[in-house]
Amino acid sequence: MSITVVGSIAYDAVKTPFGERERMLGGAAVHFALAAAFFDEVRVVGPVGDDFGERELAVLSERGVDIADIERVAGGKTFFWRGEYGWDLNSRETRDTQLGVFDGFQPKLSERSRRSDVLFLANIQPDLQREVRAQLPDARFVALDSMNLWIEIARDSLVAAIESVDCVILNDAELRQLTGKPNLVSAAREVLSWKPSAGRRGPSVIIAKQGEYGAALVTRESFFALPAYPLETVIDPTGAGDTFAGGFVGYIAANLAGAGAEAEARPGADLSDDLLRRAMAHATVLASFNVEQFGTERVERLTRAEIDARAVELHKITQFSGVS
Ligand code: AMP
Repeated sequence: MSITVVGSIAYDAVKTPFGERERMLGGAAVHFALAAAFFDEVRVVGPVGDDFGERELAVLSERGVDIADIERVAGGKTFFWRGEYGWDLNSRETRDTQLGVFDGFQPKLSERSRRSDVLFLANIQPDLQREVRAQLPDARFVALDSMNLWIEIARDSLVAAIESVDCVILNDAELRQLTGKPNLVSAAREVLSWKPSAGRRGPSVIIAKQGEYGAALVTRESFFALPAYPLETVIDPTGAGDTFAGGFVGYIAANLAGAGAEAEARPGADLSDDLLRRAMAHATVLASFNVEQFGTERVERLTRAEIDARAVELHKITQFSGVS
């Protein structure tokens, strides 16, 4: 089941206590696509400027990512983000954001991108997320990520975008900021109650990312949480959230039961708790590789065998036997 993703395709400048990079490949859609491509076919939608290099495009295409809907805007500049981390790698300062070609971007999806069954609206202006969502009205599973900036300056549009998806993936602090609820579970429940209009489905899966502490999943029926995979060396968390989302959504896309009359009549009905939990495990594993080096450096070299081996390790360290 193929996946379409829209979001930033970027150059990032990043400084952490362990080093810095002045201009590396980044962007939410890029980190997502590199992770999701381990599980399923991914089509990236978004603009880049004249300054975007062939080498960077090749990083995606060499992973089998469909880049036909990456639009090169003549005379434009690629999205640029500069961030800095202190010793606490869970918090970072944004030093600069230049929207460049995203300013005024009108997403034009090809027929192929519109045919995907799974859609990920990576972090970008919520109006853009809604425009893309409207172009895939029949998608079977739609997930969305966002950030504090959009909660602050475009909350109404973001809420409308959230009401149009099945799954919301946010940092725990963003979930609190969005809902005004201090408690994670009640904040998630609040978002689960949002609906576009009577009779239409709103979000049914909420994921709160908690940085080095892991991630929690809340549905109307259940709760699940995993710690982050324990690493001794973390170099750069940039893109960890998007890589997590790529692992999660990619795993779901690869394992959703085939399309059919039943699936069409009850979208999302085959999203079992078991599938969601296994997707959380794969998301956790992918994110753990991302933080081992700067930007996309580690995930570019990652193999499926390494993913599978770490998934087995994660399974071992999160098991316990019985409660008596
Ligand atoms: P993450 O660390 O998963 O939150 O994502 C970091 C990535 O998000 C970086 O590669 C940035 O290029 C990208 N990014 C940062 N700020 C924004 C923004 N305002 N809109 C879209 N993408 C952004």
